[in-house]
Amino acid sequence: MAKPDFYDLLGVSRSASADEIKKAYRKKAKELHPDRNADNPNAEAQFKEINEAYDALKDPERKAAYDRYGHAAFDGGVGAGQRGGGHPGFGGGNGDFASAFSDVFEDLFGDFVGGRGGGGRSRASRGSDLRYNMRVTLEEAYSGTRKTIRVPRLSECDSCNGSGAEGGAEPVTCPTCSGMGKVRAQQGFFTVERTCPTCGGAGQIVKNPCKACGGAGRMEKEANLSVNIPAGVETGTRIRLSGEGEAGLRGGPAGDLYIFVNVAEHALFKRDAMTLFCRVPVSVARAALGGEVEVPTIDGGRSRVKVPAGSQSGRQMRLRGKGMPALRGAGHGDMLIELAVETPVNLTARQKELLEEFEKLSVENNPEASSFFTKVKGFWDGMKG
Ligand SMILES: [Zn+2]
Ligand SMILES: [Zn+2]
Repeated sequence: MAKPDFYDLLGVSRSASADEIKKAYRKKAKELHPDRNADNPNAEAQFKEINEAYDALKDPERKAAYDRYGHAAFDGGVGAGQRGGGHPGFGGGNGDFASAFSDVFEDLFGDFVGGRGGGGRSRASRGSDLRYNMRVTLEEAYSGTRKTIRVPRLSECDSCNGSGAEGGAEPVTCPTCSGMGKVRAQQGFFTVERTCPTCGGAGQIVKNPCKACGGAGRMEKEANLSVNIPAGVETGTRIRLSGEGEAGLRGGPAGDLYIFVNVAEHALFKRDAMTLFCRVPVSVARAALGGEVEVPTIDGGRSRVKVPAGSQSGRQMRLRGKGMPALRGAGHGDMLIELAVETPVNLTARQKELLEEFEKLSVENNPEASSFFTKVKGFWDGMKG
């Protein structure tokens, strides 16, 4: 009987992507899971078939060879000279089917491969990432700053240098799996590889666990870290400090530390990305007559801004380049100044006298000066009509 086509077995087209092939394989493999196929005597054979198909198609070189020569690419019938691109030999046929799919097996059937927790041992693993919330002022966000932070974290144990073994002794090869980290086990009609229960997959065990850390290779310590906060950070900016997270378990790599920046509200300035806003009070007389106001800037300096005669409250003026810097870039945003015309209060008798006179002159000078009064007059006239 002719061998079925690998693409047909997985139910994908010849143009399927690597991802599509993987998905199709997973789906088929789950369907053939031994737990679901107690009554199906062909399940194992079918599983072997789809596994062989996937094994051939998941690897780009093997796939190319299969596309070119079909099954002949793997049955030893094609001499080395005929193989496309002179790739190294693909090995004789199916090989050991259990080992062939072991790399995806845990991913697929992690539930029954399980078998962790052999006496609390665990493999070397990467430490967790940590988060540190840092509050900075707007001035610090403007200029950039360097801060020292105290981070309580799990660090490498000093007594054993992270190995977890007493006195820093090197761990020894696991006797159960001879250092492979995996053992063969019978599971229904499958021979599967599973994580070694003695060493948890690490391939090594610690004979005498370190007393200081209980064999974990790490312990709680407080670290002082100097953190560079670049100019231009905003609330929500994340800064990654590679390898400054938790130490790995049993000498595994450390995690990362993420600084989450929170920029505090400022008494004078509001911020929108690189633009700063500032409301500047101006007297009625100054707004009417025109002149200059002095405004604060985020760099701690001052700028003088021209106020045109007749400026109304809410008028905005732009100060170029006086806003926030770009994060890890060049240039600055602008600062927008909004005039707030202030009604004078706590008047002296003389001021009142002058304002009364001013009002009288205003009415005489131009009784319909304000378009609002014109509109109101029109409104009342309309009511009468
Ligand atoms: Zn230790
Ligand atoms: Zn082992």
